[in-house]
Amino acid sequence: MNEAELVLTHVLNCDRLSLYLNKDLKLNGDKSALLSSILKRRMLGEPVQYILGETEFMGFKFRVDNRALIPRPETEILVEMAIEKLRQDGIVWPKILDLGTGSGCIAVALAKNLKSADVWASDVSDAALQLAQENADLNKVEVKFLRSDIFSALELKGEKFDLIISNPPYISDRDFGSLAKEIFFEPQVALKAGKDGLDFYRRIISQAGSYLRGEGLLIFEVGLGQADLVKGLLEREGFNHLSSARDYSSIERIVMAKKGLLKNG
Ligand code: GLN
Repeated sequence: MNEAELVLTHVLNCDRLSLYLNKDLKLNGDKSALLSSILKRRMLGEPVQYILGETEFMGFKFRVDNRALIPRPETEILVEMAIEKLRQDGIVWPKILDLGTGSGCIAVALAKNLKSADVWASDVSDAALQLAQENADLNKVEVKFLRSDIFSALELKGEKFDLIISNPPYISDRDFGSLAKEIFFEPQVALKAGKDGLDFYRRIISQAGSYLRGEGLLIFEVGLGQADLVKGLLEREGFNHLSSARDYSSIERIVMAKKGLLKNG
């Protein structure tokens, strides 16, 4: 749905088709007051998803507010690729870790699609974890949420995963100032990633070997122009089977690799 349809279906409490087919829909006093308050907020730049308090991701409903980043369509490709790779590798009961889960959209969509998966998800923000738990409850799935700065809560615990997935912050300090005004409604902690935007890839890749099972898969969403740089970081840490995939705008958006068999046990 486009933004106008999202707003009108919300205000009129109807589906998209009824907007066009149902001639009896009326904007009475309450509804027109609601519509004008929504439009006022939207005109100040607030993203429509925050105003309505919900969005869809991979066909599932998610609560969204300024506790976490709004799920993006390209992140659906990340989840789809992860599911496909696990199927290709014949891993039937995967143990999965989503690093920096935010709204929980990746972890919850994986749990919905892979019924036998053991899904863990971490975030450094308590507020984001609360929202992610609400989204797991809304979608009736079990996810083990951890408050953790990257792997900090897992240190020395001996947990190992078949798949580590992450859409970490990846906006460089330089790019941050030139983003659309909508972005400034979202938590900066979910977006900013240092001088070159690669801080979180460096931190994750340098430690991930210790938390992956033999030949486990590490899969990332990356920003514009970062795919080759992230592949370079992976290669230097002994990862192999490197590959990438493009998003709907033909930007290299997904990078994945397998842990080398001899790396960190
Ligand atoms: N894709 C987001 C944006 O460009 C950034 C998400 C992220 O940093 N992980 O707005």
